[in-house]
Amino acid sequence: MRCSRHEIVSLIEGRTADLLAAADAARRECCGDAVHLRGIIEFSNVCARNCAYCGLRRENDELTRYTMSAEEILRVVAEAEREEVRTIVLQSGESDACRPEWLAQLVAAVKHRFDVAITLCVGEKSPECYRAWRQAGADRYLLKHETANPTLYAGLHPDSRLQERLAALGCLRSLGYQIGTGNIIGLPGQKSADLADDVLLARKLDVDMAAFGPLVPHPGTPLGNAPAADIDASLRVLAVARLVLGPVHIPATTAFDALAPDGRQRALQAGANVIMANLTPHEYRNLYEVYPHRRAANSLPRTKAILTRLGRPLAADYGHSLKPTPEAKPCCAPPKA
Ligand code: SF4
Repeated sequence: MRCSRHEIVSLIEGRTADLLAAADAARRECCGDAVHLRGIIEFSNVCARNCAYCGLRRENDELTRYTMSAEEILRVVAEAEREEVRTIVLQSGESDACRPEWLAQLVAAVKHRFDVAITLCVGEKSPECYRAWRQAGADRYLLKHETANPTLYAGLHPDSRLQERLAALGCLRSLGYQIGTGNIIGLPGQKSADLADDVLLARKLDVDMAAFGPLVPHPGTPLGNAPAADIDASLRVLAVARLVLGPVHIPATTAFDALAPDGRQRALQAGANVIMANLTPHEYRNLYEVYPHRRAANSLPRTKAILTRLGRPLAADYGHSLKPTPEAKPCCAPPKA
């Protein structure tokens, strides 16, 4: 749907029920009813950056830091494959705690042993790192732009610039990754026009995945006293994104469940076609504290139960891009010996 910035703002500020129903119909038309399940392994909470909204920021001294071993990660992937998870998301804070060669070897080992696609979400890195991980078999890369407003971005990210992030997304695209971006909804000072710009930026970047998630404040951060995002307002942004972006993968992010017990379910009824299950071992899970009190609701059984309640089938395929990306195909099949 070709919408102007003004029209997107009107939709974001308009009637919730009509908008969500239209987005649900659009999702059915361009993605079908099957929901793609992504299994996330949060393999390290070490982070060198200091983003104002994130509990993993380096100045949060209260947090015990961890990094999983390759053997631990491979055990989790083996179990996930048995549970029919077809995409593994390897996610961490942004640091040099894990050497690029280590991650390349891990990606290659996962692709060699298991029949899964791999999404990386490890932050801004050098083109050489991106190339090595792509050559090792990584299929996708998620790098949220967080906000398309450069002033807001600068206030939240003391050690990165929006332009650098966008350049990184361009580099990832040129290397043949399926790319994903996304925003945070409900930031202090954020206007409807900023949210419209977030959606338009995702359209301009022609992304394969777009994650629009609400702010859930962490008390140990500069945004600790900010109000959490409103769930209806957040669902409206997600719905508008579906209408404007068409055939892209849009997740019901776990942060929706922090706003309401049925938050992810409602997101799946407002345009989302992807759901995430947290596969991080229990001894580490509470330490990946982007925001506090993350519920156990995003465990694999509870995540599958949402789909049962909605009567939506679990997708059987890898859930690759809905757009023609032939250059991404060679990494789809695991290079088994
Ligand atoms: Fe680190 Fe990412 Fe959190 Fe920023 S948002 S502090 S880069 S983990």
